[in-house]
Amino acid sequence: MVSQSTSIAIIGGGMGGLTAAIALTRIAGVEVTIFEQASRLGEVGAGVTVAPNAQRVLDALGVLDRVREAGAVPDGHGVYQNSMGGLVTDAAWEDSARQYRNIGMYRPDLISVLASEVAPATIRLGHRLAAVHHSGAGVRLDFENGETAEFDALIGADGIHSVVRRAIGQFPEPVYSGYIVYRGVVDAARLPADWPMISQVWMGDERHFMCYPLKQRKLFNFVAGVPSDRPLAGPWSGPAEVSELAAEFSSDIWDPRLARFIDAIEETFWWGLFDHEPLTNWSRGPIALLGDAAHTMLPHQGQGVNQAIEDSMALATFLRAAKTPADIPEAFRRYTAVRMQRTAILQHGSRRSGWMFDAQHEFADLAKRDADLRVGRDFRRSAVFDYDAQKVAEQALTRFERTPVA
Ligand SMILES: Cc1cc2nc3c(=O)[nH]c(=O)nc-3n(C[C@H](O)[C@H](O)[C@H](O)COP(=O)(O)OP(=O)(O)OC[C@H]3O[C@@H](n4cnc5c(N)ncnc54)[C@H](O)[C@@H]3O)c2cc1C
Repeated sequence: MVSQSTSIAIIGGGMGGLTAAIALTRIAGVEVTIFEQASRLGEVGAGVTVAPNAQRVLDALGVLDRVREAGAVPDGHGVYQNSMGGLVTDAAWEDSARQYRNIGMYRPDLISVLASEVAPATIRLGHRLAAVHHSGAGVRLDFENGETAEFDALIGADGIHSVVRRAIGQFPEPVYSGYIVYRGVVDAARLPADWPMISQVWMGDERHFMCYPLKQRKLFNFVAGVPSDRPLAGPWSGPAEVSELAAEFSSDIWDPRLARFIDAIEETFWWGLFDHEPLTNWSRGPIALLGDAAHTMLPHQGQGVNQAIEDSMALATFLRAAKTPADIPEAFRRYTAVRMQRTAILQHGSRRSGWMFDAQHEFADLAKRDADLRVGRDFRRSAVFDYDAQKVAEQALTRFERTPVA
């Protein structure tokens, strides 16, 4: 284990940065400091699904019970339906061992649970990273508030517009999907009392609508994907009128139950959907990337945060094997080698799921689309939900340590 006096800076106090701080402290035993640009930790008022693959990590970190208490476990598997509500297929919602089941989380609650597991003194708010200098063995960081700081190593968990990513020589162009989502939450009391406590997706006419329960079932999350060129001309998100969202799903090809859900929405905002091509590297010397900074993906497989949580465990496992700060670059190279391929598959898979939900391109053949969704359900359970990030990293570590360095 690398000595406790080893100091690691994490840029970004989002779900990725906070989980990395917990994993690095508990698994690798290192000292971390999180720098967050905002004046307080927070998240948008919407939902996120914590999937079985991330729950396995949170369980190993001792955080899962608190996440489960704050969230909502559905009553059963979710459903993909056509626009009129006809069943297309059931959705994967648990791992093969049936140990972990999807949890719907209100994002601000997930941030508070994670933040409460990190020592408050290690979170430095109001620190926007401006520049990174890789000097000798460590890094020097310049912040926009004029402060500077030096660390043995740096982790960029600073999201899609990452500054740290530039310091490792990666400059991916954001790719706009052609779609925006309307997002928000609905008070469960505004829905019919028998509204199913499961995840539901309606798909049709180049758009889709998803909802699932959150916050001990008191809220429902909704995400409605529609084509739009709005983000090409201006900002990537903003407030929206509920009437605008309702108009997108108003024709007589949509299930009347969906109209009932939309009637219950009081507030919404829109969000442009962007990703980028997989990076060619995630680390350089004592600097590494994690979460959206490394692999922004479209939300259609609900894996962005879940992958950041997997990253955190893998990173901590490789760092645990570093004996001195001089070993950190090798730990980061190993982490990169193990993580890049998995997340690249999910980046492309998320695009493909979007094409399927919105019946674009080759999925104009709906019978083929529906068959693919059924295959996708089984793949999702075995390849995504059953993945054990800690086990995979530990097995890779054993292999790496057996392989003599030339
Ligand atoms: C509609 C939608 C639905 C989604 N649903 C799911 C889902 O169900 N499941 C799932 O797993 N994922 C989902 N995602 C993806 C998920 O939201 C992201 O993958 C996740 O938020 C990424 O976390 P992160 O910590 O890597 O980055 P971010 O959440 O972007 O956090 C980055 C942090 O870094 C800070 N920061 C940025 N620059 C600097 C700087 N220069 N200096 C200091 N601080 C800085 C920011 O303020 C922020 O706090 C969804 C995304 C969308 C758009």
